[in-house]
Amino acid sequence: MQRINVWIERLSALYRNLMRNFANEHGLQLVHLEILQYLNSCNRYSNTVQALSDYLGQTKGSISQSVALLEGKDFISKMQSQNDKRVFHLNLTTKGKTLIKEFKELMSFDLPDEIEFSKVFEQVLRNLQKKNKHREFGLCKLCGFKEDLDDNRFHCGLTKEILVKLDADNKICAEYKNPEQA
Ligand code: SF4
Repeated sequence: MQRINVWIERLSALYRNLMRNFANEHGLQLVHLEILQYLNSCNRYSNTVQALSDYLGQTKGSISQSVALLEGKDFISKMQSQNDKRVFHLNLTTKGKTLIKEFKELMSFDLPDEIEFSKVFEQVLRNLQKKNKHREFGLCKLCGFKEDLDDNRFHCGLTKEILVKLDADNKICAEYKNPEQA
């Protein structure tokens, strides 16, 4: 276990270093890029200041300031929730999506047995989250609230809304429920 921790520390230091450099080159700070990255991977229930605050472990005030800056630089746009007027949903603009695409290309590399490595990393992540009582932000397709309808559609038992396969396969959710804890 100690050896894994050493790799995690080194990888996370390198990853954050590369992120910080990339952000600085575009006139941003590390946290701004973290916000854009999260908004690129979360679903439509999770693109709020509150979820960002939970995910990044920062106060809502601090996240709100960063969100205002990103909105001012046209990396994200805000849309008021239809269900709750106090809540705003945050979406990447074309400029924001382009920046994240560029960052992903910078960070991409080939890895043999990627699926096996992914399973190990997922297990490490889940263990650390569980031990430290962090929300899981899991993939919709694995959620205990997901109910299959047909090949391309799912029903969310929490929001009572229909989801398409693309959302369920690729997006993380702040409301995710581990099926083992159902
Ligand atoms: S099924 Fe689960 S992960 Fe998917 S939207 Fe509903 S609560 Fe979120």
